[in-house]
Amino acid sequence: MRVLDVVKAIAQGLATTFRHLPDRVTTQYPDEPVRLERRFRGQHILHVDENGREKCVACFLCAIACPADAIYIEAAEDLRPYPERIGVDIRYARVYDIDYGKCIFCGFCEEACPKDAITMGPNFELAWYTREDMIKHKEDLLITRQRVSPHLEIAP
Ligand code: SF4
Ligand code: SF4
Repeated sequence: MRVLDVVKAIAQGLATTFRHLPDRVTTQYPDEPVRLERRFRGQHILHVDENGREKCVACFLCAIACPADAIYIEAAEDLRPYPERIGVDIRYARVYDIDYGKCIFCGFCEEACPKDAITMGPNFELAWYTREDMIKHKEDLLITRQRVSPHLEIAP
């Protein structure tokens, strides 16, 4: 009786396996793009306004909210009039670094930002050889500099 139960369980398991065989779930990355959901949290994006001014006002709220202490900001003031300024406000982030060796992609920084200056982008190819390379600077994170990976597509 026990042997029959085992054989029956194996048969049921194999039936399930064969039923799902046509449903290929493995993506042949990087030959095929990886399909990501809209809520996917990849590399951060620092945003600019419609005139290209950086939205970040160096308020430090994202750095305070970060549970991994992964964000390093240095604030500065740019007293020039708006058309010549770096940012939307006089105060801006002279330095904005994120250490991807520490980041846990929780998204708290995005939620804490009162200026919609930082969001979690789709780029997921975040592998580097040294700890120094894991620290990304403002120049790497700005939407004007960052390119979306050709190896991904966003689900509609
Ligand atoms: S996603 Fe989370 S851990 Fe990463 S920088 Fe933002 S707050 Fe910090
Ligand atoms: S990204 Fe947003 S929360 Fe962080 S310092 Fe800039 S304005 Fe403040």
